[in-house]
Amino acid sequence: MANDNQSITPRHQDHAQWYQDVIVAADLAENSPVRGCMVIKPYGYAIWEKMVAVLDELIKKQGAANAYFPLFIPMSFIEKEAEHIKGFSPELAVVTHGGGKQLESPLVVRPTSETIIYDSFSRWIKSYRDLPLLINQWANVVRWEMRPRLFLRTTEFLWQEGHTAHASAKEARKYTLQILKKVYFPFAEKYLGVHVLTGEKSESEKFAGALATFCIESLMQDGKSLQMGTSHDLSDHFAKSFGVQYLNEEGKLTYAFNTSWGVSTRLIGGLILSHSDDKGLVLPPALAPHQVVVVPIATDAKDPVMAAAKKLAAGFPKTYGAKFDDRMNLRAGEKFYDWEKKGVPVRIELGPKDLAANSCVLVRRDTGEKNSVALADVKTIVKDMLADIQKTLYDRTAKRVAEQTVVVDTWEQFTAAVEKGYARAFWCERPECEAQIKEKTKATSRLLALDAPIENVVAPVCIACGQKVKRKKRWYFAKAY
Ligand SMILES: [Zn+2]
Repeated sequence: MANDNQSITPRHQDHAQWYQDVIVAADLAENSPVRGCMVIKPYGYAIWEKMVAVLDELIKKQGAANAYFPLFIPMSFIEKEAEHIKGFSPELAVVTHGGGKQLESPLVVRPTSETIIYDSFSRWIKSYRDLPLLINQWANVVRWEMRPRLFLRTTEFLWQEGHTAHASAKEARKYTLQILKKVYFPFAEKYLGVHVLTGEKSESEKFAGALATFCIESLMQDGKSLQMGTSHDLSDHFAKSFGVQYLNEEGKLTYAFNTSWGVSTRLIGGLILSHSDDKGLVLPPALAPHQVVVVPIATDAKDPVMAAAKKLAAGFPKTYGAKFDDRMNLRAGEKFYDWEKKGVPVRIELGPKDLAANSCVLVRRDTGEKNSVALADVKTIVKDMLADIQKTLYDRTAKRVAEQTVVVDTWEQFTAAVEKGYARAFWCERPECEAQIKEKTKATSRLLALDAPIENVVAPVCIACGQKVKRKKRWYFAKAY
């Protein structure tokens, strides 16, 4: 029955291969002829479309409007902000020829669009009345990737990037955090079904050109941390490089303050790593293209079971995307296996005996539980079951973070903790200290939680170098994707 060429390597055996196998078995994506790029197949793209729909609505609720900026950026733009070019130059794809001729000045395929967007902002913004200016774009970007992995790190990926301009540093910081708290955090928790930490990045982990970077991040099943979204306070760094100035209420020419923020197709990688199991993909109902699939157990298209199954599928609310699997070239068992690999939250099996008894069999993807229920009750039961699956998946991730986070005060405790998950430690915040930690343990600082308490400890010292710490707050460290 099982289709052996799509078997899935168990997680404990080879986690990286398991991840790859889940993607192939669920038919989400494949590698392209160009190393590092990916082809997102229809089922994978359907998940992305669900994500886009939710995020787009949340972003618009924060007042941002969608626009579109060009794929090509003059190289001279990228070079204008010193930290920005330093950070991005190793990843740039550069176009030197066009129209059969060498170009007078090279073009960069956008790695991110701060430079070209703030060039436009410098013309769009004249007065304080033009602020805040809140723009979002859905686009593809290119960052040359040396160690690609489908969805997690690809040379070309899809994302949204928000870019805003504000009258003051205070307002820019407020909006940076607003996006984190009102868009990315609720998206992760309510839709992805992933418990995330929210916090600030260290100097070495922050965005190239930013004053501060904030992020959402969570622990995957292998104990590694995954950054899933970032929001940057750019201060007036880019405004000064691109001349984004406005006349304030006193008629004085003033630099604007910018923010930028993004999430990408990496979220699909996070979804897979968070929830899936050795049988394949597990989808949170809120992002499943089909929340329910109805599989008839019949060998003849004229069997009354077929019509009953079709009617059953059609009876669910449209938002469920309920699928009636009427393929006649596959046996019912093969269909069960297929939908299991694709992570459909609820599978309904309907055979002649079930129909005769006015019942059907419900199977939950997250727990594998199987129950026979009356057809009359199926809509209510499925509704509750979908909500329960969404909650169960979230609770698992919250439990994982809680169980695999250790407060540490010695180097021995630190090295043991980062083998399994997060270590929470006092740290001096020096980049050279972080580099040494990484060299010794492969772990990096992940974030300083927004709600990290000030701890009642006399003169705490850095976990790694023993120097005095800046703040009496513990940082999260982990190995990361
Ligand atoms: Zn240190």
